[in-house]
Amino acid sequence: MPLHLHTPLFESGAMSARDGQSVWLKMEAMQPPGSFKIRGIGFACEEYVRRGATRFISSSGGNAGIAAAYAGRRLGVPVVVVVPETTTERAKELIARENAQVIVHGASFQEANALAQSMVTGTDAFIHPFDDPLLWQGHASMIDEVAAARFKPDAVLLSVGGGGLLCGVVEGLRRNGWSDVPVVAVETVGADSFAQSLAAGERIELPGISSIATSLGARRVAEQAFALAQQHPLRSVVVSDAEAVQACLRFMDDHRVVVEPACGASLAVAYDAARSLGQYSKVLVIVCGGVTATVQQLQKWGEVFGG
Ligand SMILES: *Cc1c(COP(=O)(O)O)cnc(C)c1O
Repeated sequence: MPLHLHTPLFESGAMSARDGQSVWLKMEAMQPPGSFKIRGIGFACEEYVRRGATRFISSSGGNAGIAAAYAGRRLGVPVVVVVPETTTERAKELIARENAQVIVHGASFQEANALAQSMVTGTDAFIHPFDDPLLWQGHASMIDEVAAARFKPDAVLLSVGGGGLLCGVVEGLRRNGWSDVPVVAVETVGADSFAQSLAAGERIELPGISSIATSLGARRVAEQAFALAQQHPLRSVVVSDAEAVQACLRFMDDHRVVVEPACGASLAVAYDAARSLGQYSKVLVIVCGGVTATVQQLQKWGEVFGG
């Protein structure tokens, strides 16, 4: 049995903007570890166990680390997650709750990641947060479910961090014969490594991440994500942190579900569907989820950004 759930797919009454336009939600926020990441990470972890791995190592203090910890517990495989000192107590708790060992090391992700990499032995599997073809294969299952429901969207809206979700969704579209369905790829200002790479015509590296949408905070996107932009119909959109947070708060009222600003970025575009997605009549939004922002934190950001 796979480690992820088959998630709900339904039309959002709150978002369907103009006559004849419908916005559909794929509720990845309902996955037990709180985000879509368990699809790819669960799939990869099962495959690594088949190949003989006896331990998983991750360096993500976010949803990828939580998903790896969850997968390890479910599979009975020990997990080590190395996180930087900047990681919140809450994130460390969520990882530890899944019985994974949390090692705090270094001032930034780079140092934590370097230690994690140095720990990997021949019997360990390193679980990358976005840049692994096994992850993309696993993420693609969310599109299989949409196809099985016989709902063909005319655009898919999703958030981009390192681009693992993008690679997985495009793989899912292709394997269901939907290579013609465009993807709208959303980032926040200050975490827009994909948009800036497209503008530059090459993969750029951001000097740092200045957005609160930390789950979108890959300084450089996966090579495959950049390559797909040349092969698949795709549009890139960048929203502000304020728009992402307001969308999270609105979504909470409309659909009674809490998500991170990383997901709110896509929701912000969906709420403005009449303006930015006017040409599409059936929009599929990947509600990617995320557990690292509490209701209180979202409300505080909402005040800071003048909600
Ligand atoms: C990881 C993550 C993203 C970005 O996914 P990538 O595969 O890195 O592009 C978006 N939203 C949430 C909630 C995430 O956890």
